[in-house]
Amino acid sequence: MSFRNVVGHELQLQVLRRTIARGRVPPAYLFLGPPRVGKTLVALEFAKALNCLTPPPEGQLPDACDQCDECRRFERGSHPDFGFLQPLVRVQLEDETGERTRTQVAGSMIQVEAITELIAEAYLKPVRARRKVFVISSAEAMNEPAANKLLKTLEEPPGATTLILTAAGTANLLPTIVSRCQIVRFGPVPPRQIEAGLAAQLPTAQPDAIHIAAALSGGKFGWARDLVEQPRLLEIRRRVLALAARWARCGRLEALQGAEQLIAAAEEWWTATQTDEVAAELLKRNRDRVLRTKVLDVLDILLSWFRDLAALANGSRPPAEVLVNSDFQAELTAAATVYPRGAAQRGFDFLSEARLALAGNANLRLTLEVLLLHLIGLAHPQAADT
Ligand SMILES: [Zn+2]
Repeated sequence: MSFRNVVGHELQLQVLRRTIARGRVPPAYLFLGPPRVGKTLVALEFAKALNCLTPPPEGQLPDACDQCDECRRFERGSHPDFGFLQPLVRVQLEDETGERTRTQVAGSMIQVEAITELIAEAYLKPVRARRKVFVISSAEAMNEPAANKLLKTLEEPPGATTLILTAAGTANLLPTIVSRCQIVRFGPVPPRQIEAGLAAQLPTAQPDAIHIAAALSGGKFGWARDLVEQPRLLEIRRRVLALAARWARCGRLEALQGAEQLIAAAEEWWTATQTDEVAAELLKRNRDRVLRTKVLDVLDILLSWFRDLAALANGSRPPAEVLVNSDFQAELTAAATVYPRGAAQRGFDFLSEARLALAGNANLRLTLEVLLLHLIGLAHPQAADT
């Protein structure tokens, strides 16, 4: 992989490659943009290109060659001057004999211990690279002690080190962290580019599946790729959208049932995207903690529903041009007649709040039940206040 394999974000890549060419790399970056648009991939490629030993061809900007010793170590995941942090949860597994082991899976929090460890390494001289690079993916998942610890490092950055933070937005980051980072913003990738990227990277995939995934992706290439690689996800998506269509017309008593259905969808999402046995065991032992990360994917589907409703309410262009979920045009049009003005935007806000709450430590079931009471109440504004 190299910058050539990044789908979209041409301007951002230009800026980063010019920075490498000039040789004056800032101590800290903040890559901002929606989840799964490719921020972390760009951060990894940037880290590799920064330390690649092969000079770029005359007249071209730097990129990783993928051949030299540095690039290869990096690809093998064994480069001593590179570190990667993402939100994790510690879980305990138990086999039939009662033997217990601890492991870590993708989770919702970056703890202070992980930041402390990263910083200790960041202050050491590079072992072999020109620059040490540390990527902190989903930096908004840092708890308060972790964020404060990182802030101290940004105030006195270590010499030959660059930190790259990625986040969906700045709302959950300390303003003092944001102000010390060079910000690079990433927007959604246009569907046509996603379609071309998927076709190039997944040459055996069905063109129909690629077309649907690109249209549904909301500009998130990583998500589109998951959809093509796991056709079961498309089925889960259909089910979640059918639920959303139902909520436009049902009573608020269905909120409890709806929360249960979303959790079930998250569970299926998890099993569809995991293949090893540990995954099933993890789900059994730590259901709540595993599902809270997958529910975020399910909430993204609902976000696309309310985004479509807002586009229909806006009404300036024909539905076929503006809808992400164009296969649900009939259901969306019917729902749009039920909701009062402004309801789609409020639905969008409720979902964003729930996402943030779940990325923190909020109770999964309770958060979803409250969310559904709000979403179902949107169609009956006068009843929602009683
Ligand atoms: Zn190289």
